[in-house]
Amino acid sequence: MRNLTDLVIVGAGPAGLMAAKTAAEMGLKVTVIEKKKEISKIRRACCAQFVMDNGYENEFLQIQDGKIMFTRNNFSVPYTGRLVNVKNSFYYSPSGHKIHIAHSDGRPLAIKFDKGQLLQNIMEECEKLGVEFRTETLAYGGTDLGNSVKLELKSKEKTSTIEAKKLIIAEGVNAKLTDIFGLNNGRSLFGTPFVLLYTIEKTCDFEPESWIQYYGSVYHPFAEIIVGPTLEGTDTIELTIMGNKNILPETFFENIIKNSPLKNNFKHSQIIDKKGCSLKSYSSLRKPYLGNVISIGDSAAHIEVIVQGAIMCGYHAAKAVYEELNERNGFEQYTSWWNDAFDFNRTEFNNFISLYGSLAMRPKYTDAELDYMFSLLQGKTLCGIFSQFETPKIVWRSILEHKEQIQSEQPVLFDKISKLYSLNLSA
Ligand SMILES: Cc1cc2nc3c(=O)[nH]c(=O)nc-3n(C[C@H](O)[C@H](O)[C@H](O)COP(=O)(O)OP(=O)(O)OC[C@H]3O[C@@H](n4cnc5c(N)ncnc54)[C@H](O)[C@@H]3O)c2cc1C
Repeated sequence: MRNLTDLVIVGAGPAGLMAAKTAAEMGLKVTVIEKKKEISKIRRACCAQFVMDNGYENEFLQIQDGKIMFTRNNFSVPYTGRLVNVKNSFYYSPSGHKIHIAHSDGRPLAIKFDKGQLLQNIMEECEKLGVEFRTETLAYGGTDLGNSVKLELKSKEKTSTIEAKKLIIAEGVNAKLTDIFGLNNGRSLFGTPFVLLYTIEKTCDFEPESWIQYYGSVYHPFAEIIVGPTLEGTDTIELTIMGNKNILPETFFENIIKNSPLKNNFKHSQIIDKKGCSLKSYSSLRKPYLGNVISIGDSAAHIEVIVQGAIMCGYHAAKAVYEELNERNGFEQYTSWWNDAFDFNRTEFNNFISLYGSLAMRPKYTDAELDYMFSLLQGKTLCGIFSQFETPKIVWRSILEHKEQIQSEQPVLFDKISKLYSLNLSA
């Protein structure tokens, strides 16, 4: 065989960089292809919070001494950036009733981090290990040749190819190569949401260290809006607004800051940054490999992998490649880990969208219904969990502890919940 690179990785996000670092540590010759000029410059919306739930993605993160420690998977990555604790999660109804989620001992539910700095830290480790980076280079096609993989590249209008023994696709959520290499067969496309993330300074009266979701048509006709902390101080927040290609998220912005119940919080505010993205929301790949190619991180699922999950994917995928190159079933082992570690791959989540559709508060419930349901939990603090999979279930269970009261006071609402709520009223 010709003198091929062992591994080519497309995408220098958290998944691709971690795969490169781990593979290079094991002595493999690695090339990373990245379309951006500066790897650590974040261009796409990301709230960049680590989920600190014990057991989330079968992991329990600890952050100390300049390291993010993956205590169950038994590895760490360097991180020298700033951190902000997120200790509360609030759900607000249209007229201001709130549901509060927190740990009783004040531990953070999540920790906000600087994603650009994290990528920079991992990239520097890669460079020390001799990983080759080809930036401003788009991988746009390729073929699995059996004994190797050939990729087609474009850089500053020039085309070229690279051949390697194995390919890791870590292109992120809108991955095209996953399809080109034949891995998307049978995968469902649930939708293409558009998201805008505004960073806004000089706001006032938002609870600090909190992740706050506002529900109701006074804010948005079909989704919640989210206010989260930034690394810049308590008067600077991130506002996340969802939309789709027919109704772009920015359509709602003026109303939120000028007419909604939050208008006074934004009275003197200024936008300092705005990042957007459209996301192809595919069902996850239960078998993320074919031949010499494996797809990891968001390329094999959707943004629910999140940064810590993408890093774990990179770590395990590099080990899998090493095993494969030594004639063992590394990709099969990776697949078992992948299916076990992520909620959205488990049977309960088979029909992810219909499960979450049934738990959704908007647009199914009117403002008056939301006010009534949230008022039932006013003044209570629910147990501390941040997982986007578990929190809606906990909120619904807590509301439904009042089901006799709902049935007698709001029979129409009770019938509606009975029809819409998939886990049924005895859950
Ligand atoms: C609105 C929003 C909020 C989020 N909030 C959080 C959060 O709070 N916490 C959290 O942990 N995660 C969050 N995420 C999710 C997180 O951003 C992703 O799960 C994570 O970045 C996935 O990492 P990845 O390496 O798989 O892909 P990405 O981070 O998407 O990296 C892919 C890389 O591949 C490059 N690339 C793509 N195609 C090509 C190509 N053909 N050739 C060359 N290069 C290519 C891209 O430029 C990019 O650098 C959020 C995402 C969104 C959209």
